[in-house]
Amino acid sequence: MPKKQSKKLEKKCLNCDQIFYPRKDRYDKIKFCCQPCLYEYMRKDKVEITCLECGKKMFVKKTLATKKKYCSKACMAKHYKKTMTGRNNPHYKNGLTDKKNIYTWYCYNNMNSRCSNINNKNYYRYGGRGIAVCNIWKKDIQLFMKWADEHGYKDGLTIDRINNNGPYGPWNCQVISRKNNSKKMYEQKYRYLPV
Ligand SMILES: [Zn+2]
Ligand SMILES: [Zn+2]
Repeated sequence: MPKKQSKKLEKKCLNCDQIFYPRKDRYDKIKFCCQPCLYEYMRKDKVEITCLECGKKMFVKKTLATKKKYCSKACMAKHYKKTMTGRNNPHYKNGLTDKKNIYTWYCYNNMNSRCSNINNKNYYRYGGRGIAVCNIWKKDIQLFMKWADEHGYKDGLTIDRINNNGPYGPWNCQVISRKNNSKKMYEQKYRYLPV
């Protein structure tokens, strides 16, 4: 019986169209005649981009060329931190809601709300009684921020009106602690109780 001749299977290289004979067991997997062909093919419909953070060059698919900007997530995070936080952020306005200012900002909004928002649950004690925020502060939050900063306002303290029937304004306000404020309110309540 003649020995069965195993005919070598031929294959065409995807890159250079050369005929080559891959090993039988790797026939399905192998697609290129040589490694340089593989690399060349991989770069064929790809574009080279540079990582915005570290400058590393890489090849990506054309469809991703405009989207991909970083070589890794770490690079992306680094770059984001540099360009998107604080004053570097293109949406940065005035820093009023910065960590440093956030309590003053809340305080300002609460104050305005108490005096002008009918739906505020404390409105009857403020706006309802004719207590208003002075125009200087109402028009420019920066001035309020500056005042609060100069008077040492921070979380846990409140802004108190010296004359209880007067408006919120720099001449009628002081920064005191919550405890002192409730003490003052208590005294006022029982000292000047309307008859
Ligand atoms: Zn080839
Ligand atoms: Zn990078």
